[in-house]
Amino acid sequence: MGAASRAIEEGLWPRLIAPAPDLALFEARLLRFFKEQARAELIDRVAHHAVTLGVKPERIQVKELRSRWGSCSSDRVLAFSWRVILAPPFVLDYLAAHETAHLREMNHSRRFWAHVRRCIPDYEAGRQWLHEHGCGLHAIGMAR
Ligand SMILES: [Zn+2]
Repeated sequence: MGAASRAIEEGLWPRLIAPAPDLALFEARLLRFFKEQARAELIDRVAHHAVTLGVKPERIQVKELRSRWGSCSSDRVLAFSWRVILAPPFVLDYLAAHETAHLREMNHSRRFWAHVRRCIPDYEAGRQWLHEHGCGLHAIGMAR
């Protein structure tokens, strides 16, 4: 049993300490932290999938996306919701592969999904997770 599961069993969830004089600053600091974590993970995973697919993104953006997880523009800019860092790693990896595959196919054709499968043979698990939990993830950090 790993250290993480042992801590959870004992009721000792990992905690993130973000000192701040008020709630607005606290939220801003948490958001910046999540965006930086998401950016680092996505740069790593997109670079990996870009090699597999023989493509090169122009830029990777991590930002506030209200109703989707990512996008790929015609000028090869990949954009992702910062919330993907709050999903399990295999879900973030699937989204990275999905948007990277759009650099080959700007649609959701069979050829597009074949590219995604080359990156992640079991990509359906990531899709399924988002289907089941995506709404809850989108709701995180929304205005109350
Ligand atoms: Zn897509």
